Amino acid sequence: MNTLSISVDDGSPLDLKLADVLDKNGLKATFYIPIKKPGGKLMTKKQIRILAQRFEIGAHTYNHVDLTTVNHKMALKELVEGKIALENVIGKKIITFAFPFGHYTEKLIKLAKYAGYGNCRSGRIINFASFDDKKFIQHPNFQIYPHKLTTDLRHCLKYGDLFSFTKRLALARHKHIELYRLMPKNVPLHFWCHSQDIQKFNLWSFFGKLGKDNS
Ligand SMILES: [Zn+2]
Repeated sequence: MNTLSISVDDGSPLDLKLADVLDKNGLKATFYIPIKKPGGKLMTKKQIRILAQRFEIGAHTYNHVDLTTVNHKMALKELVEGKIALENVIGKKIITFAFPFGHYTEKLIKLAKYAGYGNCRSGRIINFASFDDKKFIQHPNFQIYPHKLTTDLRHCLKYGDLFSFTKRLALARHKHIELYRLMPKNVPLHFWCHSQDIQKFNLWSFFGKLGKDNS
């Protein structure tokens, strides 16, 4: 049996539906929420507070900014203000952070530490190494999204992860979405998604399968 944790990015109002589905299937999750998102709908403060009663909340910058595209000062401002604003909404300390678009550098990891986070998360879409939640930078194993094989392979190369590249190639006849069953056994794993993708590709039943496998 695997210890599975899940994270959900972006604070869409659909996160509330996903929270119910996760609850129903006995799955734990952290919701990473920006304060503002250009072109995107977000939960109200009241909805975030309700969600925070059942699930961990993490920060995701103030304006959902790709931190690799802004200067050091702006990146720190996004890291700090996103944290404080969310703490003011839920009335609890925020300790975890996810990089928007999964984009980060070594310098930004240090900056996230300096901003007061206890850990931060990347946006790996496929990664066959066991999940280490003791590390400051944490890499998910799987994005719940119908990625193409070529996207998975390119992704592994971009991260210099030849181990996962080789594994993915060996599993080439499987669709991305089936890979969750083919992950290493008896190790901690971490999956992530956007609830909008779950809606768009109608992947709601996926969580029922996960809940069953995880119980
Ligand atoms: Zn995001």
